[in-house]
Amino acid sequence: MHFNELNLHPQLTAATAACGYQTPSPIQQQAIPVALAGRDLLGLAQTGTGKTAAFLLPLLHHLLAGERGNKPRALIIAPTRELAEQIHADIGKLGKNTGLRSVSVYGGVGKLGQIKAFRNGVDIVVACPGRLLDHLQAKAVSMAGITHLVLDEADHMFDMGFLPTIRQILKQLPKERQTLLFSATMPQELRRLAEEILREPTTVQVANSVPTTTVSHVLFPVEQPHKASALKKIMKETEMTAALIFTRTKHKALHLATQLSKAGYSATSLQGNLSQSQRQSAMSGFREGRFKILVATDIAARGIDVSSVSHVINYDVPDSVEAYIHRTGRTGRAAKTGTAFTLAGQEDRPMISRIEKTLGKPMRREVLAIVQVTADSLPASPPAHPRQRPRQPRMAAAKR
Ligand code: AMP
Repeated sequence: MHFNELNLHPQLTAATAACGYQTPSPIQQQAIPVALAGRDLLGLAQTGTGKTAAFLLPLLHHLLAGERGNKPRALIIAPTRELAEQIHADIGKLGKNTGLRSVSVYGGVGKLGQIKAFRNGVDIVVACPGRLLDHLQAKAVSMAGITHLVLDEADHMFDMGFLPTIRQILKQLPKERQTLLFSATMPQELRRLAEEILREPTTVQVANSVPTTTVSHVLFPVEQPHKASALKKIMKETEMTAALIFTRTKHKALHLATQLSKAGYSATSLQGNLSQSQRQSAMSGFREGRFKILVATDIAARGIDVSSVSHVINYDVPDSVEAYIHRTGRTGRAAKTGTAFTLAGQEDRPMISRIEKTLGKPMRREVLAIVQVTADSLPASPPAHPRQRPRQPRMAAAKR
């Protein structure tokens, strides 16, 4: 199935492509038609399944039809500020160019910015329950115009004791509305709430045992000088159908592809210095399996559509979270599973933590025993305290 079969507004279909989404995930395939039809929905899915876009896309679609920027028409309630921020950011991406405005509302920060946003006019409020109730009690915002309500990660809200607050918020919402409730689990009390607030809901479920985020994210801590040998070791120990390797510069892409070819791999590069025909031959060679490895820069890799990529390797950490999502979205497409390896040094730490924040969980760390401890590879650091045991390099573990 493709996004354009879902009958979403063309701007939204275009946004999914811009986000690097190739095919709707199972929860999206099931939930989007139901939500587009205006029905209430109980979505049993956990983070990582694509549930955010599953509720945002139909929501944005509905909101595109009405008058924009006057008063909040959609309310999304989330348990944590991180999740609220993430949803708000996803609205920014999926709703780009729609003119729809959202605000994220949570405690621990000043109220003024949030109040200003309400005054300036927003279509969507993404809120944590406590702070939203504060605003409602202070009459800083009205929920009278809400036509769409989403409760995200409802089981976490229940765990965190938010249910009474949510009930108070619900009293201020119009009864006539569409409600979508997403939760990974359904404790008894939550089920009762769902029965009260959802009208003849359709239940869609993604089995937890089948991870629908088909990409696993693995991080190898490696400093720059050791990356080439780390990569070769990883490639030797990992079964790869087709690997897409990203470097920061075109020169590096070419150099690395040459090195890999010399080491016996069928590798080629895709970078800005190629003529159109060389570029096409690299692309078709990779697509048809003549090359198992394609080393590319972000710009050159735009538009690569090879569904059988089993591994994306970030030889260099990308310079934005979006680029990471875009790169790694090239594996694990459709129902296939994929793996994203990232080689990262100390200097990449800030970007890695931003990426992990977006992923919602840390990447799996794998330590490679690649670096032969020779005098010239020893870091220039003071000798360890005599009582400290030297850290033993763990055995290489590129397990699948
Ligand atoms: P979520 O379960 O909403 O937290 O989404 C998990 C990750 O999957 C996020 O990084 C999304 O950007 C990404 N994602 C959502 N839908 C798709 C899709 N159809 N194809 C590829 N990635 C997706």
